[in-house]
Amino acid sequence: MDLDERYGSFLDLKAQYESIQDEVLRAVSATLASTQFVLGKEVAAFEEEFAAYSGGKFGIGVNSGTSALHLALLAAGVKPGDEVITVSCTFVATVAAIDYAGARPVFVDVDPRTHNLDPAQVEAAITERTKVIMPVHLHGQPADLDPLLEIARRHRLLVIEDAAQAHAAEYKGRRVGSIGDLGCFSFYPGKNLGAYGEGGMVVTNNEEFAHTLRMLRDWGQERKYHHVLKGFNYRMEGVQGAILRVKLRHLDGWTEARRRHAALYNERLAEVDVQKPVEMPYAKHVYHVYAIRTPKRDLLQESLQAQGIQTGIHYPIPVHLQKAYADFGYGAGDLPVTEQAANEFLSLPMFAELTDSQIEAVCAAVRKAL
Ligand SMILES: *Cc1c(COP(=O)(O)O)cnc(C)c1O
Repeated sequence: MDLDERYGSFLDLKAQYESIQDEVLRAVSATLASTQFVLGKEVAAFEEEFAAYSGGKFGIGVNSGTSALHLALLAAGVKPGDEVITVSCTFVATVAAIDYAGARPVFVDVDPRTHNLDPAQVEAAITERTKVIMPVHLHGQPADLDPLLEIARRHRLLVIEDAAQAHAAEYKGRRVGSIGDLGCFSFYPGKNLGAYGEGGMVVTNNEEFAHTLRMLRDWGQERKYHHVLKGFNYRMEGVQGAILRVKLRHLDGWTEARRRHAALYNERLAEVDVQKPVEMPYAKHVYHVYAIRTPKRDLLQESLQAQGIQTGIHYPIPVHLQKAYADFGYGAGDLPVTEQAANEFLSLPMFAELTDSQIEAVCAAVRKAL
């Protein structure tokens, strides 16, 4: 692709790779030479560095964010028949992981400003079977964790943060992922900290959970061929650990770039009649996604496409209305805020390497379309 073709890109991973290529190739080459292809020194070092970065004591590297969520639920003691309170306004993996654990997702609607789990509606959803509250830090903005933790403590529930979109995001000055009992990250390539393949991590301050998680990701082994738990092959690859260590050193710069881009979008769209992302007073938003809302979403998306600007929708169908999850018994009208947001969300191009002139071009195209 030449520059022109990439100009209106929704996400350009190539620009970032080009900026760190030498460092990455050195790290990959050393890891291959070490033959530590699965787990190994690089993964162990990355676990320590990323857990510390996220304010946690322990990091357990796995092969995806979905695996991180699945194992966090198992470590939390979630069993078939249990209930997990979460949102439908999320990527499907949040709910898939609950299903893998044999539990039932109980959906609570979201706050219309943040699109995160509305703490005011959680208590009414708690039953005798509830074990976990699982907020999602959607689009990179932390959910309002304090009231959720307070409710969880009062009802003896655990809080698992789905922080897959929120590396480096802060809640009241603390990085997310270590504020709840367990925090789950994804390193899918398009995430704010992305591997060059799949990856994920559970972060926790609880040593017992960390011990269980290390076993679960590696066939439930306490030591080689001694399987004390029914485990999984969910280990992180050595090369991904090495690449993620290199990329972690750049994350602060990339995060600040995303925040600058969001500020410029907000400024240039100030007079345009669309709902812009709201950064809550308790939050440092890391803009994994910069999503506006408008009832004219489909028209706007078509017009931008015609003007050479790619956009995304995160997400067009809420999980509770997906065919695959019909068995959970939810239907249209059950979660009105979530359902309306899904019809109105439009994600504009957002990645660290985006230039001011690209943002100006996107905003000009939005103004023209509306
Ligand atoms: C990406 C994502 C996941 C899953 O992560 P994978 O690494 O793709 O398995 C889970 N939850 C949310 C909110 C995500 O955005």
